[in-house]
Amino acid sequence: MTFEKIPYKIYLSEQEMPKTWYNVRADMKTKPAPLRNPGTGAPMGFEDLRGVFCDELVRQELDNDTAEIPIPREIRDFYKMYRPSPLVRAYCLEEKLQTPAKIYYKFEGNNTSGSHKLNSAIAQAYYAKQQGLAGVTTETGAGQWGTALSMACAYLGLDCKVYMVKVSYEQKPFRREVMRTYGAAVTPSPSMETEIGKKILQEHPGTTGSLGCAISEAVEAAAKNPGYRYVLGSVLNQVLLHQSVIGLETKAALDKYGVVPDIIIGCAGGGSNLGGLISPFMGEKLRGEKNYRIIAVEPASCPSFTRGRFAYDFCDTGMVCPLAKMYTLGSGFIPSANHAGGLRYHGMSPVLSQLYHDGLMEAVSVEQTKVFEAAEAFARVEGILPAPESSHAIRVAMDEALKCKETGEEKTIVFGLTGTGYFDMVAYEKFHNGEMTDYIPTDAELQKSFDKLPQVPGLD
Ligand SMILES: *Cc1c(COP(=O)(O)O)cnc(C)c1O
Repeated sequence: MTFEKIPYKIYLSEQEMPKTWYNVRADMKTKPAPLRNPGTGAPMGFEDLRGVFCDELVRQELDNDTAEIPIPREIRDFYKMYRPSPLVRAYCLEEKLQTPAKIYYKFEGNNTSGSHKLNSAIAQAYYAKQQGLAGVTTETGAGQWGTALSMACAYLGLDCKVYMVKVSYEQKPFRREVMRTYGAAVTPSPSMETEIGKKILQEHPGTTGSLGCAISEAVEAAAKNPGYRYVLGSVLNQVLLHQSVIGLETKAALDKYGVVPDIIIGCAGGGSNLGGLISPFMGEKLRGEKNYRIIAVEPASCPSFTRGRFAYDFCDTGMVCPLAKMYTLGSGFIPSANHAGGLRYHGMSPVLSQLYHDGLMEAVSVEQTKVFEAAEAFARVEGILPAPESSHAIRVAMDEALKCKETGEEKTIVFGLTGTGYFDMVAYEKFHNGEMTDYIPTDAELQKSFDKLPQVPGLD
């Protein structure tokens, strides 16, 4: 088959945008393990979870069987403000690398939150509004999720309370002000507003916080305030479901030109963009229709897949959340403060964890100076200043393309460019000044954290 020359950017029309999300769990032979109650070890059902999450999202969280879930019209209308996102053929990067590989990236940074997170923020806010709730609480690390949720809540007229990891709150004042522009209340975490925040501050005075700790605070705040529920920007099954819009659009765009990828690459913090990007491709792989190499890229300083344990663990530092079975570094693991490159979460999506455990995808870890080298090289030829998180995927896409240069193979590589890095210039500055260092936790440090993994009543 021959096709016309592939344009620099492949866009879909509004009519071609997905009308349903794709739930990859429906095609998984081994389903992700259920969330469990830390006290009793029992799997958590609808009634157990609806105090924390809104009802429709609990249904989506627990649904391992329905492959296609309709995207409500209101959410599709919101998506049209910034979607479809372009699938870009990286002609300039290919030229610069002198590689025979064909490189594509799906760019999710074309909205004010600067990342893919808006795809799930609007869905979660929509279902909360539909249930008649007053507002939602959440945590944010670098600030993209908090920004995305603030935008969605402002659009729907919902109250939004964000616990922001203290180090980011201080280092990223502009991100904080974007959230406040959208009407969110932003509190640095750990804070004195919650019992768990006070406890963490007592045990670790001067701590710069972590995502796991901010989650504990947000969950507590949701439980304490009537009419509030907690929402989470990654890790959960429901978030991967909403993010499947990335993969569905990518696949539709590639199909238009008859392009079949060999390698699909994404950065992995909690796994939501990668899970969303690969979902429809993984579905084909699970159904035995096609085969793809799928690679998760994580920071060497927070290597959940490559050095973590596949075990039940708390999703948060405060140990107030349910237990999830996932690749984890232990909920007490706090990545080194010198790590600027995002993706600081200790755990990983249970869906991706199961797929990785079953050998259906690979994972690699990369050091942050290598990541920023790739970010800068990419920015100079492709015109987009990438987020440090996204740059993990750029790094490995470039490495794979350079391997093709050696072997002469014309592989097709697709990677997720999850966002822009305008709010990460302090990290870029460190890199430019040669002040960026690579921190890799020792086995002994990780072991200390693994030793604290919880026992699950009835399972161990
Ligand atoms: C949050 C974020 C990530 C990592 O989160 P995942 O859930 O692993 O996708 C990656 N890139 C950007 C730009 C982000 O904001």
